[in-house]
Amino acid sequence: MLWQLKIPHKVQIFIWKAYLNWIPTTANLSKKGMEVDDMCAGCHRKSETTLHAIWNCPNLRRVRFSIPFVHNQSWNDMASAFDFLLFQENILDKKEMELMCVILWRCWWRRNQMIHNAGVRSEEDVVEWAANFLEEFHKTEEKNSEKNIANGPMIKNIVRWERPREGVFKINTDAAICSDRNLVGFGIVIRNHNGEVMGCSSQSTVANFTPQIPEACAILWGIMFAKDTGLLPTVIESDAKTVVDLINAEAPPRADIGTVISDIINLCSFYDIRVLFTPRGANMVAHNLAKVPSIVEDRFCLEDYPPFLESFVRADMAL
Ligand SMILES: [Zn+2]
Repeated sequence: MLWQLKIPHKVQIFIWKAYLNWIPTTANLSKKGMEVDDMCAGCHRKSETTLHAIWNCPNLRRVRFSIPFVHNQSWNDMASAFDFLLFQENILDKKEMELMCVILWRCWWRRNQMIHNAGVRSEEDVVEWAANFLEEFHKTEEKNSEKNIANGPMIKNIVRWERPREGVFKINTDAAICSDRNLVGFGIVIRNHNGEVMGCSSQSTVANFTPQIPEACAILWGIMFAKDTGLLPTVIESDAKTVVDLINAEAPPRADIGTVISDIINLCSFYDIRVLFTPRGANMVAHNLAKVPSIVEDRFCLEDYPPFLESFVRADMAL
C-alpha cells in the first residue's frame, strides 16, 4: 500500500526505511557498532529505536494526541516500527495513512534539526503542518498531470528507458570489464513507476571472467536487493542478450555460468520476477554505474545516487 500513497517520493522512501529499520537512530547506529550513546536526545529516558524516534518519545505526546484519527488506538504495545506501520496501514484509510506518513517524516526531520542545533519551532503544530504540506503536494501533482496530458504524445523512435507500470519496480543491471586491470564493475539501479531512484549499487571486484558471468551476477544481486527490501513486483533489465536468453530458456547451460543462471531462474520463479533484454541506450544509468566502480560504497545505497548520474537519470525521466 505504501507505494500507492500519493505522497512525495522522499516521504515514501523515509517510511520504507522505517519499515526496514534503516533509520539512523542512535540505537540503530550503536547496534551497527558505532560508538554513540543510544539514548534519545529528546527525552533522555529511553533508547532511541526507530519507533521511539518517530512515535513513542514522550516529546511527541502532543503530536500523537492532535491526530484526529488515532485517539483511541493502543500503540504502546507495538514491538517495532514495522509492527506499528503495518498496524496503521490496516486500520487507516488511504488519506489518513498519507497524513500519518508525512507526520512521521516531519517528526524525524524535527528530531534531526534538534540534534544538529538547527533550531525548531517548538510551537509548530506538526499535524497542521503535515496537512498543509500534503494539500500543496496534491495541488502541484494535479497541475503537473494536466500539463503532461496537454503536452500530448511523446516523440518515439529513440531507444530509451521506459518506466514500469504503476506499483512495479524496475531494476537495470550492467557489468563492465576493464581488462587491463582485471577489474570488473557492477552497476545496479532500481526505480519506481515515476522513474525515481529507489536505490543503486556500484561494486567492483578483481577477477578475470568471461563477460557473461559478471552480467549474470549483476542480475542476481538485483534480485537479492528487491527481495531483501520488499521492492516487489519487479522486472529486471539487462543489456546482455546472451545472459537474458539463457535465463529465459530456463535450461542452465555450461558449468561456469550455470550455477548463477540456475539461482536466477529459481529466485525469479519464486518471486515472480521477469528478466528482460534492453538495448544499451536504455540502460545508461546502470551502464555508467558499472563503468565507475567504487564510487558508491560496496553495497546498496537507498534513495541517493552519485551526482554524475544525475543527467542520465533525468534523460530517462524526460518525456
Ligand atoms: Zn525520547
